[in-house]
Amino acid sequence: MLRMLADLVLPVPCAACGGVDGPLCPVCARHALHTEPMFVPAEVRPGGDAPAVCVAAGPYRGALRSALIAYKERGRRTLARPLGGRLAAAVEVAAVRGARLLLVPVPSSAAAIRERGGDHVVRLARFAAATLRQRGLRADTATLLTMCRVPSDSVGLGAAARRANISGAFAPASHAGRRMRGPHGSLRGRTTIVLVDDIVTTGATLAESYRAVADIGLPVAGAAVVAATPPRSATVYAVRDVK
Ligand SMILES: [Zn+2]
Repeated sequence: MLRMLADLVLPVPCAACGGVDGPLCPVCARHALHTEPMFVPAEVRPGGDAPAVCVAAGPYRGALRSALIAYKERGRRTLARPLGGRLAAAVEVAAVRGARLLLVPVPSSAAAIRERGGDHVVRLARFAAATLRQRGLRADTATLLTMCRVPSDSVGLGAAARRANISGAFAPASHAGRRMRGPHGSLRGRTTIVLVDDIVTTGATLAESYRAVADIGLPVAGAAVVAATPPRSATVYAVRDVK
């Protein structure tokens, strides 16, 4: 709360370089917000062999990385709008055009949500959906998933260990079934579901989200994230090279 008040009355430094003109100065914004969306390699796609794509708005480095850390760990909520805009760019590449898009945020633990004063991925998803609507697309968000088991810290774990660590951690939210049947009819067959998260590392979290949404009986078209950590082995292809 104090930080939010301070953000309103004090000049906010740039989250990336620390200079004046925050929350992102024009130079850092140019670096952080104008990265080329890229497909994340097949080995870290959600669902393993499933025909789902994962697109990141940019690599997790430089100003984009600083902005994400400031947003996620230092309570710089004003960065939700520009970072949500980046997420929207990734969704646009990942999703089928013309369909009604439903962005499903990857769930966070209740403790993390409390600590951060809200769900940082849900907030990004909402700004992303708003950006997509401004561009004339039909887009909405739905928190279909919840974290039912908190996994251990995955820092330093490899892909297989991360996958085992998070396996079974997500479940349908209590309202997910209602959302499916819903007053407006079933979600099934009328929407293109895109999983969204802030950062992809090995893809284990997205794979678990993919499984949990598939268990509800809904197909997932793909995943979109703000940033991808550089892969250790595979090549990341820029979108323009693939299309
Ligand atoms: Zn800066």
